[in-house]
Amino acid sequence: MRILVTGGAGFIGSHLIDRLLLEDHEVICLDNFYTGHKRNLLKWLDHPYFELIRHDITEPIRLEVDQIYHLACPASPVHYQYNPVKTIKTNVIGTLNVLGLAKRVKARFLLASTSEVYGDPEVHPQTEDYRGNVNTIGIRSCYDEGKRVAETLSFDYYRQNDVDIRVARIFNTYGPRMLENDGRVVSNFVVQALRGIPLTIYGDGSQTRSFCYVSDLVDGLMRLMNSQHQGPINLGNPDEYTILELAQAVQQKINPSAEIRFEPLPQDDPRRRKPDITRAREWLGWQPTVPLSQGLEYTIADFRARMLTPDGVPSASLS
Ligand code: NAD
Ligand code: UDP
Repeated sequence: MRILVTGGAGFIGSHLIDRLLLEDHEVICLDNFYTGHKRNLLKWLDHPYFELIRHDITEPIRLEVDQIYHLACPASPVHYQYNPVKTIKTNVIGTLNVLGLAKRVKARFLLASTSEVYGDPEVHPQTEDYRGNVNTIGIRSCYDEGKRVAETLSFDYYRQNDVDIRVARIFNTYGPRMLENDGRVVSNFVVQALRGIPLTIYGDGSQTRSFCYVSDLVDGLMRLMNSQHQGPINLGNPDEYTILELAQAVQQKINPSAEIRFEPLPQDDPRRRKPDITRAREWLGWQPTVPLSQGLEYTIADFRARMLTPDGVPSASLS
């Protein structure tokens, strides 16, 4: 099959491309390299089934493909809040362009949506039929509302134009190749502990998240794409941790005497987050297999290797 991955040079996209090429698909990666990097794909650049296109998805593009994984959008609050208007354009105009492409070539389209559509949830754990509690005018809204519109567009293209859609609601995912300056909590804590500087906990650390290792997530995305279910479907690890517990786990693995510094909690930071993955279990036969402790080991090894090489490229990402 010929498969387009928008945002394929980013963290999740590059792991997805690894899997797709190993399964002998033809892959086109489209990326504007805002938070993604060519180094994530170095090992495929000369592969006959791989093509890399620098393109901003807010501009239309014509391609011939069978499936589309639409991941293009910065995912870290630091990056999506840097230029919020651009984040909205990417989610709205970008998704419109990709849905238009899917319609024209009759490709199956999978949207990488997010647990952020639930906002600061009043329902716990979050099921897919919960409609969310999102602030429309806050600093996270460009991303949260952007993804909510992207979901709406997907279902309207399905109803109006018969586009074959899949919608995945991805919960916090972590692993090798996250950027050192990504700003998300796992990469921040690992980088801070490796550098010997204090781990920054925002608020008192009692807020919770559920962390999914990237290989599990990629497996879930591929199962959803190749299933007969549209979704929306939660993909995430239901093991819930407070941010303080996460900091302690990282401390324990890297430096038990690492200092912790408490900093102000950003506006609209969700209090709790944990996916109900009953649908994913029943519809896709999917559930995460990598526990946090193991996933942290792989992630720490990757950051350690990168921080030791002058160009920031660990040998692992080249293998
Ligand atoms: P990432 O920032 O590493 O990857 C996003 C990629 O999209 C980057 O390569 C970036 O350069 C590219 N991109 C951004 N704007 C673009 C544009 N206008 N045109 C073309 N390319 C563009 O993030 P990630 O963690 O790999 O997330 C991938 C997708 O999964 C995103 O859509 C994100 O919203 C979704 N998601 C991720 C998580 C998570 O925890 N990682 C959670 C929920 C949802
Ligand atoms: N967080 C933190 N220290 C950091 C980065 C993040 O305490 O250095 C907190 C953040 O306030 C949030 C949680 O960790 O409560 C997860 O943040 P992240 O940015 O990874 O993802 P999101 O908030 O989008 O789930």
